[in-house]
This record gives sequence, C-alpha cells and structure tokens, in this order.
Amino acid sequence: MTKEFRSVQGFNDILSPEIAKFQHIESVARRCFGLFNFREVRTPVLEQAGLFERSIGTSTDIVEKEMYTFEDKGGERLSLRPEGTAPVARTYIEHNIDKQDALQRWFYIGPMFRHERPQRGRLRQFHQAGVEIFGTDDPFADVETILLADTIISSLAVRDVTARLNSIGCPVCRPAYLKELRSYLGSVRERLCEDCRKRADTNPMRVLDCKKEGCLEATASAPRTTDHLCNDCSGHLSGLRSGLDALKIPYTIDTRLVRGLDYYSRTVFEFAPARDTRAQNAIVAGGRYDYLVELLGGPHTPAIGFAMGIERMAALIDTPVQRGPAVFFVPLSSESRVKAVRLAGVLRHTGRTCEIGYGEKTIKSMLRRADRLGADLVIIIGEEELRDGFVTLKRMSDGTQERVNDADLPDAVGRMKS
Ligand SMILES: [Zn+2]
Ligand SMILES: [Zn+2]
Repeated sequence: MTKEFRSVQGFNDILSPEIAKFQHIESVARRCFGLFNFREVRTPVLEQAGLFERSIGTSTDIVEKEMYTFEDKGGERLSLRPEGTAPVARTYIEHNIDKQDALQRWFYIGPMFRHERPQRGRLRQFHQAGVEIFGTDDPFADVETILLADTIISSLAVRDVTARLNSIGCPVCRPAYLKELRSYLGSVRERLCEDCRKRADTNPMRVLDCKKEGCLEATASAPRTTDHLCNDCSGHLSGLRSGLDALKIPYTIDTRLVRGLDYYSRTVFEFAPARDTRAQNAIVAGGRYDYLVELLGGPHTPAIGFAMGIERMAALIDTPVQRGPAVFFVPLSSESRVKAVRLAGVLRHTGRTCEIGYGEKTIKSMLRRADRLGADLVIIIGEEELRDGFVTLKRMSDGTQERVNDADLPDAVGRMKS
C-alpha cells in the first residue's frame, strides 16, 4: 500500500478528539450569537477577486501576498475568501437589505483561506466565527459587539485574555494624522525594517503594528491617532469607553493597534492572551467599518463587527470529555441483529446514543469494543433472548447483569445508567 494522496500543505484534517474542541467552540458561539439575537448568513467561499482588492486594500499583506486568486475556465478572476466581512457586506448590498431594514445583526461561521507560510505554523485553511452589525454608528453597538466577544470567551472558560482597543479616526481627521505620521516616519526611515520602509509610503499606520524590535523603538514617540481625533471621533471613543466602564469590561487603550485592513474606521479592538504582549495571536479581532458598504457601491451604512479565530481559540481550551455510547448492542446472530436495530430505535427515540456491534466475530471481541468505546451499558441478544422476548443488560462499570423484558428496556436503561 502506498499513500498516493495527501492533504494539501496548510490544509488540515480535523478529527476526533480535536474535533470536539471545534464543535464546542462553534456551539458556544452559536448559542451566544442567538442570545444576542444575531442571524446567521452563509456566503460562498469563492468571490470575485475585486471584492477583496477594493475592500481590504491592495497595499495589505492579505491582498499582496496571501490571497488564493485564480482565473476560472470562463476567464473570471476569483478568490477564495481570506476573511468574512467583505463577502457579508457584498451580500448586504446585493440583496438590498437596507430597503427592508438597514439595521441588521448577522453572524457567520466557516472556513477562510490565506496563502500563508506553513513553516510558521500558519494554516492556509482556517476557521472563523464572526458578527457584523450594519446600519448604526451608535457607540453602544461597539460596546455590545465587544461584550459579545467577551461573553463567548468567558463562556468557553478561557481566562487571562485581555482586550485592547484604539480609535483610528475617520476620513475627516485621518488625513491630517497620516500627514504627520508620514513626516515622522520619514525622520526615522533608516531605523525601520525593509517592509516598514515600504509601508511608510503605502500604508503608514501599519508601521505602528510591526512587531520588530527596531521598528518598535523607532516609533516609540510616533504621533498617536488618539491625539488627532476630530470631535465626532473622540466623542464616539468616549461613548464606547464609558459603556465598557459601566459594564465593567476590562480593556486597555493601545495606540499601536491599527489592524491590517484598509476598511476600518474609528473603533478597532483585539482580544489576545495576556502573556502574548505583542498580541501576535489575537483570538478575536474587530472594528468599525463605516465606509465599507459605500466603498463597495452600496448606500452609506456604518457598521461594526469582529472575527474570532476558531483554531486559535481551540489552542486555549481543553479537549471536552467525549462520552461513549449509552448502550452498545451485542447481537449474537443475524436475527438478533434485527432485534437490536429495532430496540436501538426505541432507545434512540428516548435520546440514548446506541451502537450495534458487527464485524467482530465473538462475544468477547464485541465486549472489548464496547469497553474501548466507553459504553455505559451493553445489551446482549442471543438465541434464548430472541426466543423468549428479553435481553441481557449489563453495566460495564461493575459488571451487574439483569434480564429485562423487551417492553421494559427504556426504563431499565434509565435505572441502570444512574
Ligand atoms: Zn474623525
Ligand atoms: Zn517593521
């Protein structure tokens, strides 16, 4: 046997027991989204390449280096989605959602794709759960978005995660700030890394985000966005802060936090493990994008959202205990297997997980399998059981055995399990 095929580099199989973490995170996230009254939206994994080029920005790492973009057989340039917000904004515009009700609270869960360097342990297919609130610039929407992220994190019992936030201004106040930042960066240009020298021209705020020691030092006294906000932006930021303070949601202001994507305005935030001081591994990242819908050809629609990295969250939680089946059936002939299927149907109807043994030749090997699966109870059906309408019920933990009439089985299972 040769293993002729293998998964593509950076594209992982996720299976048991690891899958239990993913299921747990997704179900907690879904429950929290539901409790905050967010509705699910599912968008395709493929979009026109231009959607991301315009929204994320051509001078970002994602669009420059990391997108899976190709021409299909019809000559159309398509990209596997590298993130969830642009597709959801496209959906909002395409279906004229603002005509029904401009205010929408949406969530999504699904795979994203970036052509990252796998040697750094990065995945090329990864998974995110995210939310977007469209149609309001009320800072309370920012508070609620951050509260929702905080609720999911604490529901997953992930501790020592801290929130950082910043305001990166708006089209009114940002141009003057960028001018000042550019001239500052010009004065320290020699001390910046090669990437940052380029960024200083194309996307200067990204320089503040660089994790390299030299760049951190060179930009230690760079102008800060929060000192250059217009009245509306600083009012918005203080509205957000007083909301968080009132709810006692801890956070720190981090003026280096700019987020990598072009479409953000005003609020940007991240949740990252506290020990990860430069937040290389944010588990939740989000912000306000008041001009994205407009930029994509829709009506002016202020909005805010976040995305949570499911793999990153999975790295922070313990694997949930996976329970074995409540009942494992051991039928000793093909006739008794028919009876097992019928009785399993009755028990499944009462919510008991059942598996029926087959393939194993002997009663001993079937009992071994029941043990390996962690079954609570075993039901043996042999010749006599078949003829006289009963089963032999055995508790795996202590070997207790009971003869139970078919009709009494659901009750007996309930009694034996407890
Ligand atoms: Zn402003
Ligand atoms: Zn740098």
